[in-house]
Amino acid sequence: MANVTFIGLGNMGSPMASNLLKAGHTLTVFDLAQPAVDALVKEGAKSASSVQEAAADADYIITMLPAGQHVETVYLGDSGLLASVSAKTLVIDSSTIAPETARKVAEAAVAAGVDFLDAPVSGGVGGAKAGTLTFICGGEESAYNQGKPILEAMGKNIFHAGPHGSGQIAKICNNMLLAILMSGTSEALALGVKNGLDPAVLSEIMKQSSGGNWALNVYNPWPGVMDGVPASREYEGGFLVNLMNKDLGLAMDNAVKNHAPVPMGALARNLFTLHAGQGNGGLDFSSIQRFYHQE
Ligand code: NAD
Repeated sequence: MANVTFIGLGNMGSPMASNLLKAGHTLTVFDLAQPAVDALVKEGAKSASSVQEAAADADYIITMLPAGQHVETVYLGDSGLLASVSAKTLVIDSSTIAPETARKVAEAAVAAGVDFLDAPVSGGVGGAKAGTLTFICGGEESAYNQGKPILEAMGKNIFHAGPHGSGQIAKICNNMLLAILMSGTSEALALGVKNGLDPAVLSEIMKQSSGGNWALNVYNPWPGVMDGVPASREYEGGFLVNLMNKDLGLAMDNAVKNHAPVPMGALARNLFTLHAGQGNGGLDFSSIQRFYHQE
């Protein structure tokens, strides 16, 4: 069993850290939010009073932070974790951030003499709790092989996408597709209901037909159709509209840099931006259903 440090105990990080404890690892945690730290300490983790204290003497450091600027703050500079990390440590960032930021942090890690993986996840809060996340890793093959057993305590599918930054590229492609699928699913359901169809019946038909997709099959956006999803609890929890907007922004920036046309992604980005501007940024992203149909 390993000494693991976990930094960033939010919606995703807390259940992921919890699964590392359940797997028998020795866990040290750090977050700016004390209640999140206290909850993990109750489960058996040790708490650190700074990023640098958390980083010292770990076999693995895993970070799960909101966005690129938080990752740069935690990793870089005189008080960043790379300033106090020991050479045996494998550092893994599971936040969703720009591939360029992941590469910048990777270069700093290599300069500090440690291996780094960008390893963003898919599977949401449900997957984080169940330990069934998909990890999409970018970095050296040797670092991937070293990190895989630890990631398996939190996830079911552990992919190696390519060199540093590749995990983030695959992740933003996936989330752009997810935004398109969620908008399209919401649009189709609203059209059917406007024609008098029962949303549960229509969902079942489309699930067994060629319109079936992840948003419809396991994350139905229509309230009351599916138990245990955000749509059935007023779109609370889950994956926030603001975070989806961040990811769509990363996809748009990347598309511009690479001269890649993304008309469907751009439309989805505009829909979610409008939705966030109407006060829905703190709701789950399946609340895009309300753009098409107000309950
Ligand atoms: P969150 O906002 O719930 O949690 C982030 C945590 O980081 C918070 O507890 C915050 O206090 C902490 N933090 C911020 N700055 C810090 C610092 N300088 N030092 C220590 N702690 C700091 O976010 P989340 O929903 O857990 O998402 C985390 C990442 O995972 C994001 O990049 C997101 O895009 C990605 N993601 C989220 C989901 C989801 O369903 N929520 C799914 C896949 C990927």
